[in-house]
Amino acid sequence: MESKKEDVRRKHIRLHMEGALTARDKVGVQDFVLLDAYTSESAFVDNLRKRFNENLIYTYIGTLLVSVNPYQELGIYTVSQMELYQGVNFFELPPHVYAIADNAYRMMCSELNNHFILISGESGAGKTEASKKILQYFAVTCPMTQSLQIARDRLLLSNPVLEAFGNARTLRNDNSSRFGKYMDIQFDFQGHCAKESSINDKNDWKTVSNAFSVIDFTEADLENLFGIIASVLHLGNIGFEEDDQGCATIPDTHEIKWIAKLLGVHPADLLEALTHRKIEAKTEEVICPLTLELSVYARDAMAKAVYGRTFTWLVNKINSSLVNKDFTRKTVIGLLDIYGFEVFDKNGFEQFCINYCNEKLQQLLIERTLKAEQAEYEMEGIEWEPIKYFNNKIICDLVEERHKGIISILDEECIRPGPATDLSFLEKLEEKVGKHAHFETRKLAGPKGRKRIGWMEFRLLHYAGEVTYCTKGFLEKNNDLLYRHLKEVLCKSKNVILRECFLRAELENRRRPPTVGTQFKNSLSSLLEILISKEPSYIRCIKPNDRKEPSKFDDFLIRHQIKYLGLMEHLRVRRAGFAYRRKYEHFLQRYKSLCPDTWPHWHGPPAEGVERLINYMGYKPEEYKLGKTKIFIRFPRTLFATEDALEFC
Ligand code: ADP
Ligand code: MG
Repeated sequence: MESKKEDVRRKHIRLHMEGALTARDKVGVQDFVLLDAYTSESAFVDNLRKRFNENLIYTYIGTLLVSVNPYQELGIYTVSQMELYQGVNFFELPPHVYAIADNAYRMMCSELNNHFILISGESGAGKTEASKKILQYFAVTCPMTQSLQIARDRLLLSNPVLEAFGNARTLRNDNSSRFGKYMDIQFDFQGHCAKESSINDKNDWKTVSNAFSVIDFTEADLENLFGIIASVLHLGNIGFEEDDQGCATIPDTHEIKWIAKLLGVHPADLLEALTHRKIEAKTEEVICPLTLELSVYARDAMAKAVYGRTFTWLVNKINSSLVNKDFTRKTVIGLLDIYGFEVFDKNGFEQFCINYCNEKLQQLLIERTLKAEQAEYEMEGIEWEPIKYFNNKIICDLVEERHKGIISILDEECIRPGPATDLSFLEKLEEKVGKHAHFETRKLAGPKGRKRIGWMEFRLLHYAGEVTYCTKGFLEKNNDLLYRHLKEVLCKSKNVILRECFLRAELENRRRPPTVGTQFKNSLSSLLEILISKEPSYIRCIKPNDRKEPSKFDDFLIRHQIKYLGLMEHLRVRRAGFAYRRKYEHFLQRYKSLCPDTWPHWHGPPAEGVERLINYMGYKPEEYKLGKTKIFIRFPRTLFATEDALEFC
């Protein structure tokens, strides 16, 4: 069995290393650092296209994996493929998501460090598929104890739960599907082999409800949960009208009755809370009718709050069912599935938050990569060559700095007494950050050919490119205040889940809750704290076309994603020093046939063997450096010439 596996592996190594390196005109290079024109976006796209046309959807940038959604089954996710990637050197096999998973697992075992895998890309780029493939890989290949296996099944099954829930649509938009998912997979090291996996990939109802039962959901929990989901959908159907005084009314109470039943609240209370507002005046409470506009706002805020809090409740429930108390040692691999940069024709508050998040994650990646490069040079005793790169901290500060950043300015506008509007917010921005190098306002005359900034817009120059945001709705979305009146109704619900989501204590606390922007900023900073404590791997997913078609490679769309995923910048940092580096043993093993001194065997130290070999090959001093355990080659062409030489020897 072992020797058969080894045979397959060797064959792959030969086929793919040679395939990728010598037949590179056809299939491109399997690592972008091997592109000669590594700063050229066209060369990048060409390489991606060549590979995509050969159904090679994965390519590395160093240790980062770029994945293009094939929109078809490629037969590359079999158990034998999984076994192939187990314990193999990262570069010996063609790039694969399994290599990333395996590498994460081994890093975690050898360094007893936590690890995380960060998956980003547009909607439909293949993020969720990638995280499923990783979970399946662990499920099949990692040694597990019985108890751990249960935890694993729970995790695999909780995926359809979160997905089914996360994909439900609320009112006007599908924002609710935009949750960042962060899962920890816990490992212990006692080790029996995993049995044949029983993964059911079908995201159908049966899987979902079965999944619920495995993660300790009772029938009653389920009923309550689905009542809530259904109510959110029904909320969108409420029809408001305006009476003679300009107050909101709900003439047809049919929907209200339904929603009240689903939520376990009194219909009359709900009706009143949706069309009125309680105002406290000195000693008494006054109930005032709401305008049509405010009623719609109250309804939307209620749907968002009910949905958002229930989702948090669900995640907590799943997390606590995943906690495995038998672990002797807790080491964790985290999987983070997150939306990439978003640039639409119209960009609002959501895009602002998502793009800010990506800006922070990019900063982490660039700093990490630089640090890792620096550490490797140091360890190998090679002189550090400073790399010029753009540090996007300046943009993060522009958004998040206390008192001075855009989020603070927005919060101030939300809190300040007097009529604040989306326009007055924009004016404040112009006044306070108008001169910032990465901020542009509508007052900009601007060079010709650039898109004009509209009356209600401002523009941020993100690391990946510029995005124009419309401030319309910023205040409302940042406030997202749920009227007290509605909260009171929800607190009294007969639905147990809702009661856990809307606690009475909240009503007694008169302090204003933090704004959406500030909450986002805070949770982002705690996420980054987790991420910083772990060792990262990155997967960048690309959507090849907008029509979900296999084999269709839309250049324009892909260029855009390459830009906004920050891939060129990452490649530049990764490639600034040396294109290729390999341990002396591995280098010698591959190329020893090229030099009479090292063929068929070299008995001295590997470093010396490599030196003889490259002298014989005529490497020039500027082409390479010799470290303590590795050879560093500066240009791809040197490596390719060596590869080509293999063909003729
Ligand atoms: P995202 O989570 O980024 O929005 P998904 O992972 O849900 O995107 O992928 C969207 C669809 O694309 C999937 O339902 C699947 O049909 C297809 N797809 C994604 N990745 C792959 C893959 N590696 N192989 C085959 N099909 C894929
Ligand atoms: Mg997804």
